[in-house]
Amino acid sequence: MNTIEVLSKGNRVKLTDDQNVSLMKRALELANKSVVAGNHPFGALIVLDGKIVLEAENTVNSDSDLTRHAEMNAVVQSCRLLNEIERGRSILFTSTEPCAMCAGALYWAGIKTVVYGCSAKKLDEIAGVTLICHSRTVFDGAVNSPKVYGPLLEDAAAAQHLSFWPSLSSKLL
Ligand SMILES: [Zn+2]
Repeated sequence: MNTIEVLSKGNRVKLTDDQNVSLMKRALELANKSVVAGNHPFGALIVLDGKIVLEAENTVNSDSDLTRHAEMNAVVQSCRLLNEIERGRSILFTSTEPCAMCAGALYWAGIKTVVYGCSAKKLDEIAGVTLICHSRTVFDGAVNSPKVYGPLLEDAAAAQHLSFWPSLSSKLL
């Protein structure tokens, strides 16, 4: 994966590979927590100036709201907790590449850097193709398009989906 570089308080800051892996592992933990809570295996967090400032899980079942993807929940929190400038230099780490809905929300929130674990292509292979318009496709049409990095730890991220969507994944074996 290319080195992630973001502006932080006016300085260019590079996250180390160790930092990236550690942050992605936390996103995967949040995805596991989502499943334990009865939801789908997706987790996300937002990093500002090298520190995690908020974490979010998928809550589609517990909220009875199919738009409550982990990234949507992270974006909503970021709009309440961070100002526009802070959101602009934030990085969203997510266990799986954002869908079209979440990519749009990220864009409108002004979050300019996204790192994902499992690619949308891999998720489609495991869980069944649903909405073939993923983050990079959405951002291709954007002015000042956010930077997207990934996949990162894709095998670990995909394993969560393989165990969660067994009826579909068994067809691949
Ligand atoms: Zn989504």
